[in-house]
Amino acid sequence: MEVMHMADLLIDIVDVHKRYKVEKGPSVNALNGVSLSIKRNEFVCVVGPSGCGKTTLLNIIAGLESYDSGSVTMHGQPIIGPGPERGVIFQQYALFPWMTVEKNIEYGLKFIRKRDADGNEVRFTAEEKRELAHHYIKMVNLSGFENSYPKALSGGMKQRVAIARAYALNPEVLLMDEPFGALDAQTRAQLQEDLLRTWEKEKKTVFFITHDVDEAVLLASKVVIMSARPGQIKEIVDIDLPYPRTQATKMDETFMRYKNYIWDTVYKMYLEIPK
Ligand code: ADP
Ligand code: MG
Repeated sequence: MEVMHMADLLIDIVDVHKRYKVEKGPSVNALNGVSLSIKRNEFVCVVGPSGCGKTTLLNIIAGLESYDSGSVTMHGQPIIGPGPERGVIFQQYALFPWMTVEKNIEYGLKFIRKRDADGNEVRFTAEEKRELAHHYIKMVNLSGFENSYPKALSGGMKQRVAIARAYALNPEVLLMDEPFGALDAQTRAQLQEDLLRTWEKEKKTVFFITHDVDEAVLLASKVVIMSARPGQIKEIVDIDLPYPRTQATKMDETFMRYKNYIWDTVYKMYLEIPK
C-alpha cells in the first residue's frame, strides 16, 4: 500500500454529511459520510449517477456551500469560504457579458495580491494584469480575441476564457464541475488535450467532475466513483496509465479495461436505484 506523506496532502475531507432542508417534504440527504484525501498534483475525477452529490462536494471544497458535520481542510486549515487558491470552473461559463475577453480574465486579479521584492503585499499593476491576461489567452489558444465580447464567441471559446481566467489567478487547485459537458465532441476533445498539456506542465491539483467515464479515465490519476441516495464514495480507482496522454490513449488496452470496469460499477448502481 502506498504511504501518503503529510506534505503531499492538500485537501482533506473527513466524514462530511450534508442535508438540504426542503420547505415542503423531507430534507435531502446529499452527502452521507464522505471522506476523501486529495494530494498535491493529483488529477482527481469524480463520476457517479446524477444527483449523487458531486456538485455539492465541489461547492463545499470551493467554500460556496455549508455542511452539517465532518471537516474539510486545505493545508490543515478549515475551508470557511471561497479563496483565490481554489479556482472554480462551472459548466456554464459565467463570464461577464459586458467585458471583453481580456477584461474578463483581468477581473479576478483586482482582488489578489502578490509579494514584491521586499516581501510586501502589493496589487498587480495595470500593465502586469494585461501581460498575465495575454499570457493565459495565448495558453488557451485565443490570441486575437482579446477584445472580443463573450457573445461573439462559441461555447468552446467561452469555456476557454473561463479556464484562462481561473488559471490567471494561479490557484493551487482547480475545481471543475462538468466543464466540458455542454460542448460538442470535437471541442471537448480539444479542451481535454489542452487541460492535460497544462496540467502536465504546471502540475496543478485538479478536482474534476464529469458524467463521462471516458473523460474521467483519460484525464484522471484517480477516479472517485460516487453512489446515489445518499451520496457516498463507492470506490476509488487509481488510473495507472502514463502521462502525457492524448486521445490516442483511448486505444490502449489498459485504458479500455479501466473504462469498462468503472462503467460497469456506475451502471450497476443505476440498476440498483429504486425507480
Ligand atoms: P450531482 O451534482 O451529483 O448531480 P448535486 O450535488 O447537485 O448532485 O445534488 C445532490 C442531491 O441534493 C440531489 O438529490 C439534489 O436534488 C439535491 N440538492 C442539490 N442542491 C439542492 C438545494 N439547493 N436544495 C435542495 N436539494 C438540493
Ligand atoms: Mg452536478
